[in-house]
Amino acid sequence: MLLLRDEETLAASLSQVREHTALTRDVLTGKADLRHEHGRKLVRTLAAAARSPMYAGRLGADLRQRVAAGDLTPDRALDEELAELPFLSKRNLSDSGPAAFTRPLSSFLHYYESSGTTGNPAPAPKAIDDLVTNTINIGEMWRRFLQPSDVALILINAPFAPAAYQFEKVLEYLEIMSLRPWVDNITGDYTRVLRLIDELGANVFVGPPSRLLEMVQFAHRKGIAPPRFDRLLLMAEQTGEAFQRHLSRLTGATPYVAAYGSSETGTIAVTCERRHLHIQVQSYVLELADGTGVRRLSGQSDRGELIVTTLDVPSRPLLRYRIGDLVEVDYAGCECGLATPVLRTLGRAQDVITFSGSGVRQDDLETVLWAADLPAPVVFNYMLVVRERAVVCLVTTDAEPSPAWTAELSARLGQLFGGYAVAVRPVPVLPPLASLGQYLGWKLSRVLDLNDAQNWDRLPEPIGAIVRDTLRALDN
Ligand SMILES: [Zn+2]
Repeated sequence: MLLLRDEETLAASLSQVREHTALTRDVLTGKADLRHEHGRKLVRTLAAAARSPMYAGRLGADLRQRVAAGDLTPDRALDEELAELPFLSKRNLSDSGPAAFTRPLSSFLHYYESSGTTGNPAPAPKAIDDLVTNTINIGEMWRRFLQPSDVALILINAPFAPAAYQFEKVLEYLEIMSLRPWVDNITGDYTRVLRLIDELGANVFVGPPSRLLEMVQFAHRKGIAPPRFDRLLLMAEQTGEAFQRHLSRLTGATPYVAAYGSSETGTIAVTCERRHLHIQVQSYVLELADGTGVRRLSGQSDRGELIVTTLDVPSRPLLRYRIGDLVEVDYAGCECGLATPVLRTLGRAQDVITFSGSGVRQDDLETVLWAADLPAPVVFNYMLVVRERAVVCLVTTDAEPSPAWTAELSARLGQLFGGYAVAVRPVPVLPPLASLGQYLGWKLSRVLDLNDAQNWDRLPEPIGAIVRDTLRALDN
């Protein structure tokens, strides 16, 4: 999997590959003794953390002593020590910078950083050992529905983040040819990418949904046949059922939310062939927190704020890291037959827009915009512009809509935004902001609040004029 010149490193890496593959397969089929593995790995993780300056004040003297003397038992680590450790916030981690490492920076293979959408970017470099485990964790799931005859397009414009590199490694592990082209946000020219999809027969898309939408619209504008895929492996953005159905209708593909995790934690859950995210329990100890307290996953379905302890990132271990997501963990069993629990994300509190006391979520809005019974044309993409008690919904469509169509869609949206005046306006292209979901999240990329006058700058002409006229008409 990795080309390594040094015989000793190569041998260590190979034995890790074999050991972790065997463990992962046993965990997926329910044969592994998970409690034993968690205890064993947690002892090793605490020993690694003791070498990191970030944990200097976080691990108690007694625990340090036990770790140093080698007499910390797996049971004690799991049942007593873990619950005593302080939580680690995103802020703690990004403020620590390289102090979070247990090794010199130069011993890593690649340097990456987290996106920094919710604070300063945190270092997220890849070392051989964590790359091996994360690649196998994803690969052993994806192999259930991908095969070497597939050709995958990785379209992820995020050079600082590890995702594109990581997915390329997974496809190598599965012996699937991939290509990883780059389309910049300035020219947005997909001509060459579309030609390559066609010539190479690329049938798997890996990337954020807003990037895929942008490519489909580019093809439409240029009169190029829209790209068709068999499978979409979507990542980096919240992609609900309505959004997935929409992408499926545009590309003919089966959509999957590919994985869940972050640059800092690695990949915590990965999709199965039945489109459910399975928790990679071989590599994490997870806890859930709510008003009633904090508890480890117990084999019972549960929900709460996710707290993550990494077991397979010795170069930068995270102990009780607050990733900031509300999740639901389901032990009811998945149709795919795997033994591991399923994870569902319940979204982030900051991704709700509030109208006259009631909240509108991304999913609510997209269910209306991409409803199967909405007459043609099809909405490609959208952006909401809000000012006082008016909402303008800018849309791009696959054909020129009639006034009756915009009236119909405006009325449907009006029911969602109770008490607000709503108008739908077709535009040839959306403001560049709308394609930045991968970096900014849904609300910041798709909802523009003109109650903050500076936001007018984000509406290039002629869109600014369209919005001004529409708001004037709504006011009258
Ligand atoms: Zn499943």
